[in-house]
Amino acid sequence: MAADTSRTVRIPAETQSIMVPAETLRNSAPAEGAGRFASYVAVVIAVAATLIFLHPAGPLAGSANIGVEVWLMAALALLADAWPWMPPGRRLSSAVFPSICFTFAILIDSGLPAALVVQTAAVIVSSIRMKHRPWRALFNIAQYTLALTAAQLVIHAGSMILPVDAPTGAYVVVFVAAALTWFALKYTTTSIAVWLRFGGPFWSTIRVPFVSEALTTGSLLLLGTVLAEAATASPLYVPLAVVPLLAVQRLSVLSMQQSRLARLDPLTGLANRKVLISEVGSIAADYARSGGRGSFALLLLDLDRFKHVNDALGHAVGDRLLVAVADRLAKGVREGDLVARLGGDEFAIIAGRLTGPQDAVHLAARVTAALQRPISLDGLPLDISASVGIALYPEHGTDFATLMRHADVAMYDAKHRGDGVAIYAAESDHNSPRRLSLVADLRQALESPDGGGLTIYYQPQVEIATGEVVGVEALLRWSHPHYGPIDPEELIKAAEPSSVMRQLTRWVLEHVIEQLAIWRPMALRLRCAVNVSVRDLHTDDIVEHVTALLRTHGVTADQLQLEITEEGLMADPNRVLVTLGLLDRLGVAIALDDFGTGYSSMQHLRRMPLAEVKIDRTFVFGMRTDPDDAAIVRSIIDLAGALGLRVVAEGVEDEPTWRLLHECGCEVAQGWFYARPMPADELIGWLGRTTVPGARRLAGLPVGRSAADLTASWTSEDA
Ligand code: C2E
Ligand code: MG
Ligand code: MG
Repeated sequence: MAADTSRTVRIPAETQSIMVPAETLRNSAPAEGAGRFASYVAVVIAVAATLIFLHPAGPLAGSANIGVEVWLMAALALLADAWPWMPPGRRLSSAVFPSICFTFAILIDSGLPAALVVQTAAVIVSSIRMKHRPWRALFNIAQYTLALTAAQLVIHAGSMILPVDAPTGAYVVVFVAAALTWFALKYTTTSIAVWLRFGGPFWSTIRVPFVSEALTTGSLLLLGTVLAEAATASPLYVPLAVVPLLAVQRLSVLSMQQSRLARLDPLTGLANRKVLISEVGSIAADYARSGGRGSFALLLLDLDRFKHVNDALGHAVGDRLLVAVADRLAKGVREGDLVARLGGDEFAIIAGRLTGPQDAVHLAARVTAALQRPISLDGLPLDISASVGIALYPEHGTDFATLMRHADVAMYDAKHRGDGVAIYAAESDHNSPRRLSLVADLRQALESPDGGGLTIYYQPQVEIATGEVVGVEALLRWSHPHYGPIDPEELIKAAEPSSVMRQLTRWVLEHVIEQLAIWRPMALRLRCAVNVSVRDLHTDDIVEHVTALLRTHGVTADQLQLEITEEGLMADPNRVLVTLGLLDRLGVAIALDDFGTGYSSMQHLRRMPLAEVKIDRTFVFGMRTDPDDAAIVRSIIDLAGALGLRVVAEGVEDEPTWRLLHECGCEVAQGWFYARPMPADELIGWLGRTTVPGARRLAGLPVGRSAADLTASWTSEDA
């Protein structure tokens, strides 16, 4: 039989038992292929029932003599199954039933009917104890009936072959053959049921648990053989079987625990990386065998700001939080999906049975939603969120390493965009062909004398109260010879991990400072903000470079401002502190860009020589419609005020937002409401044409210099 992967790729049963209580699952039919599973169960029960009701006399007849030893063994069988062994994490037949030792002995001692009656009674006892559904109890009774009947047939055949006066020892071979037959039948019927219930490759369902099952069951059956022989000598030997039985139990539990430990994450009890790798490998192989139909997804999940919980509340609380998260994840996935912990706050999910990428996105959304309810630890509610990256098989990779790398890229994408969930996209990949070629072409453009399509646009920043243009932000634009205009964010993301970033920052600084020098004779004294990457500040080279440029072009330091993103700065604040101090001493102001998207520590904010915070445009966009965004903007303004920092709102697109910002006490705004970023020469024209609305102007109060005033001043001075 081969696994049916035509529609789905399933997670092997062996792994599922790690994460979902197998007992619970086994009480139900599978969501898919329920008919096939039910038919199989029905056939096994029907065959066993037929055997019982027909009970062909002769080979299956039992002894009429039921001795004391049989009663004793029956009592012990029932007692034993009232406490089945439950080695943690055991295969789906998650319990071991020691009664089989006694029923096998009864089979040898008194024949099939007595063994069947006792085994049936033992199954009823264990089913009540383990809350099995009636159909499952019936199926178990049927399996034992088949196994015991087959074993009885072997014993009968042996007794026909062996001479009547053969020594008792010769029967050892017969009993061993009977035990083997018993095991083969029981193991096969159970494995088929497990496979039909949980899917996965048929051969691994058979192969993986074989050794441990064979050892445990084999020990019990062979102990039963010895017990049968001893019991015929005296019933007093029967209770002695209890001690080796306990030893077998202990060994079986220990070996299961050991193999479980090798496969599980010790903290959360989820599957570990090793299991994840082997599952991806075997599902992929299964998929390849199915001829290219079906799909599965690898979801990589990383908790946001977990480090802060760990730092603030200690590792013990962090660990408990991880356990709670693991629990939510295991409950949030669909039956048959595998959840694993990779270490730290990183988890992975293998999701099979996909009809398309949207299934994986839905699952990811469901899982992140499950994490959004605060987790209460010692009565302290902790808000936790996660970012999920998705890589699909086979579109994004056919082996574990590639899928993992691509899921990782997608996860960082999700984190960066604050979306929570992202599917792998080649353009976000540092190592995708487009990225690699962008970086190489950027290097070439920077080295070419005409800038290779690179330019700088300037976007005005306006004082809300007066309408005065107080500065501009320099924003990079690149028209790539092959790809056309490149999104600056994509470009910066591609350049940042490589040395070309430093070259790019130098290029921008040179052009901006040169531009400030060009504007100076026009009496246009604007402050210009330049975006820099946090890596530019890891060494103090930038200070030397800026000093030299300012001197060469005769531009004063207060005309230049550097913007660094909150996320970048807070990732490693200590590393940039020295450079920031030097820039501050030089007189170059520092602005914290995209404020609100990172995770600033107040202590760091206080320590940094900052002049300005820029409220991230996503909050500004939302403040008109979303009270939460409005509250965030308001509190950033208050915070900045308390720390003595200037506050700039970016992304102001309309008048209502502008009014709201004014009401909140925001000083400066930048956005399409005033002007889009434009080339340097257009800026001059814009300043000449535009009367920027200022609240004071609207209120009829005297105003500072507006854009038009600025141009008027330079045109008159020029003339
Ligand atoms: P940023 O520094 O936060 O720049 C503001 C972004 O908001 C700019 O996007 C600007 O065009 C956009 N923007 C301004 N007003 C509005 C508005 O009203 N509505 C909307 N929808 N958008 C508005 P841009 O130019 O695409 O730049 C994106 C990011 O790329 C910048 O975000 C900055 O982080 C980075 N960047 C741009 N130029 C450079 C540079 O020269 N060096 C470095 N390191 N990063 C740069
Ligand atoms: Mg900026
Ligand atoms: Mg920004």
